[in-house]
Amino acid sequence: MRHLTEEELIAHYYGEPESPAAVSKHLLECQECAQSYAALDRDLTEIKPIPVPLRDAAYSEQVWQSIRGSLPIYSPRPKKSFRGWLTLNPWALAAATACLLIAAAFFAGRQWEHRNATTAANLTNSEGAKERVVLVVLGDHLDRSERLLVELKHADPSIEAPLQAEARDLLSANRLYRESVKQTGDPTMAAALDHLERVLVEVANEPAGLSQARLDELQKEMNTDGLLFQVRVLRSRVRENAQGDAERKQTTSAVTKGVSI
Ligand SMILES: [Zn+2]
Repeated sequence: MRHLTEEELIAHYYGEPESPAAVSKHLLECQECAQSYAALDRDLTEIKPIPVPLRDAAYSEQVWQSIRGSLPIYSPRPKKSFRGWLTLNPWALAAATACLLIAAAFFAGRQWEHRNATTAANLTNSEGAKERVVLVVLGDHLDRSERLLVELKHADPSIEAPLQAEARDLLSANRLYRESVKQTGDPTMAAALDHLERVLVEVANEPAGLSQARLDELQKEMNTDGLLFQVRVLRSRVRENAQGDAERKQTTSAVTKGVSI
């Protein structure tokens, strides 16, 4: 038979046993445990609870007065400046320098990217604008050349002087356009302008003036009818390109506006 432990007896005294019926039954049946419990009961009954003293309003002051003598006097620590901190910590100085360098490199990189993006955008815009200007000017030049060739075809030899002056005027412009077109790699346009230049040279530099016979000769030799047709085709192509460019420009700006809003 298992006897009751001291913990079980104490719990029974305070009325908090895990199984009160079993403990009570055992105490009735077991002489030894009953004696132990009787002794415990006497001891615990003798212990009188100590009354908790009431604290008055001056309690906190009393506590403070009782401990203040044993506390060290507080003196604020001198503040270290950032410069002093860096001087005292070589590693901190190195870390701060590294941070500054990284920040500077990052900032410089951002600036460089931004500037490059802006420059590239400007370049694209300016190149596009330049191309449009070239197309418009070239279109005008082809218009004038077309009129000259038409007038040449139906020329009245009595009004040759204005034709020659116009041919000289067109000639200098044509040289510039021909060079420019050669650089942009447009062989059809370059060939047409080359042909036009030869005709203009002949018309401008005709020392004896433009007689009907000379005009007929020019038309045959230089194939001015063929040139006129070519100039008309190229002029319409240039106009289409210029219009397409303008439309693309409008679309782009519309898209940009849409994004920015
Ligand atoms: Zn027992």
